[in-house]
Amino acid sequence: MNYGFAINTRTCIGCHACSTACKSENQVPVSVNRTWVKYTETGTFPDAKRHFQVTRCNHCANPPCVRSCPTSAMYQREDGIVEFNSDHCIGCKACIQACPYDAIYIDPESNTAAKCHFCAHRLDVGLEPACVVVCPEQAIVAGDLDDPTSNIAKLIATESVTVRKPEQGTAPNLFYIDGNEVGLHPSLLSKDNDQFMWGDKTKSHGSKDAAPRGASTQGLPADGPIQMGGRTAGHMVQVGYNAQHRTYWHWPIPAYIVTKAMAAGIILLLGLCSITDSTPEVTPSTWFAAGGLSVLMMLITSALLIYDLDRPERFLFLFIRPQWRSWVARAAWILAGFSVTSAVWWAWESGPVFGLWSSPSQVIRGLLAAVTLPLAAMTGTYTAFLFAQAEGRDMWQSQATPVHMAIQTLYLGSVGVLVTHIVSPLSEPLWTGAMQATQLGLVLSLVLIFGGEFATPRASEVAAQAVREVKRGHYRHHFWIGGILFGHIIALLCSVVPLPMASYATALFAVIGVFFYEMAYVMAPQRIPNS
Ligand code: SF4
Repeated sequence: MNYGFAINTRTCIGCHACSTACKSENQVPVSVNRTWVKYTETGTFPDAKRHFQVTRCNHCANPPCVRSCPTSAMYQREDGIVEFNSDHCIGCKACIQACPYDAIYIDPESNTAAKCHFCAHRLDVGLEPACVVVCPEQAIVAGDLDDPTSNIAKLIATESVTVRKPEQGTAPNLFYIDGNEVGLHPSLLSKDNDQFMWGDKTKSHGSKDAAPRGASTQGLPADGPIQMGGRTAGHMVQVGYNAQHRTYWHWPIPAYIVTKAMAAGIILLLGLCSITDSTPEVTPSTWFAAGGLSVLMMLITSALLIYDLDRPERFLFLFIRPQWRSWVARAAWILAGFSVTSAVWWAWESGPVFGLWSSPSQVIRGLLAAVTLPLAAMTGTYTAFLFAQAEGRDMWQSQATPVHMAIQTLYLGSVGVLVTHIVSPLSEPLWTGAMQATQLGLVLSLVLIFGGEFATPRASEVAAQAVREVKRGHYRHHFWIGGILFGHIIALLCSVVPLPMASYATALFAVIGVFFYEMAYVMAPQRIPNS
């Protein structure tokens, strides 16, 4: 048994009966859709033609949304249907970033992920999906692809069919008969979102950001006087016929990349200096101040991550029902492990400051280092793998990203140690070593950015568009002014001035730089429509 859809674009008349029936059957709130009819036009007057494309979850045979879900809220049934369980969803939005087709949204009422589920509840009692039943043209056919006698199997065997983005390797189980090129490939239209005819113009309830550049509410007041239950008319009405192109990951993601990198980098620096004789000595008071900053950064990291969940009260699901293929689930365990072991190490090394013991045992120090240092390295870099799992964002699939995150960890940890000089003076060798590590990290970061992450030609047009958004588009100021000018050039210039205040300025600009660089990196790919 392997369920799939065949959609006949030759016979579809764009009546929206399917979208409406889906909303009614599944009680889909206003402002979001599980299925929609995409309109595209080709040709020039008087030879113009309008194409209709019913668009929804493809129930991929190899679904990246399922792999990325940290709690198995998104799962694949034995019959091939990709189903979801709202009761298990924590609202991390990893599935949304993983879907290369913009098929998933956050339900504004439950704050959990939702999408087409093949009307599985109807199938289970022998009924067809609501959209199939209601279509006046029989343009939607659902059935078992593995049964050669089924209508869908015969259609697919005899008609010319296409799927969306076959290059993604998701093996979609939704086949378009006579699919139109422009409808199937949004990147053909979307060099600028303004070109999207009937593009989504709404500001969504449940989304923390407005629609992309050029969007308006077409006369509907986004924050105007017409209100129901705290939601304005502009929030409630879907005025376009295209997919939701909303940005679901926002400033908390770049902010937490900064805080966790600093936390991990501090412990890596202090730990490596402490377990080797050839490096600068780290005094207990330095451990107390700098290690304390690391612990504080991890507390902020945890707060940011929980804040970013749309169901923050369910964050413990990451620990009680982890789905181990998901990097979100792995990240939760890495962060928890690092938080605990680094806090224990910090407390142990800080003991002499309070006269609790004279000198920490080398055996215990070695044990703590063996557990904590690998966790620190993973804490600094795992986000690169989490991004890579987001198959809906091609720009994040760069092999340079793990290396760049390791470099950011190096120099953010170093500036973290440097700023603690304010409360606990560092030894001269440690100060010099931290400053040299900062300078080296900033230079390597520049090399990685222009020689790696933003240098290699992108394999897909979607990724190339996102790079253009970073370098010349909506996030050019974040990238060039925040990330490169302040975050690297000015930070490096400050670092060569032999004054403590200049070193603190280096630290400030380095932190600002990583935040703005990551802001551009996180946000830009989310602006590129996948549907
Ligand atoms: Fe559906 Fe997208 Fe998941 Fe594929 S990746 S099964 S289209 S939600």
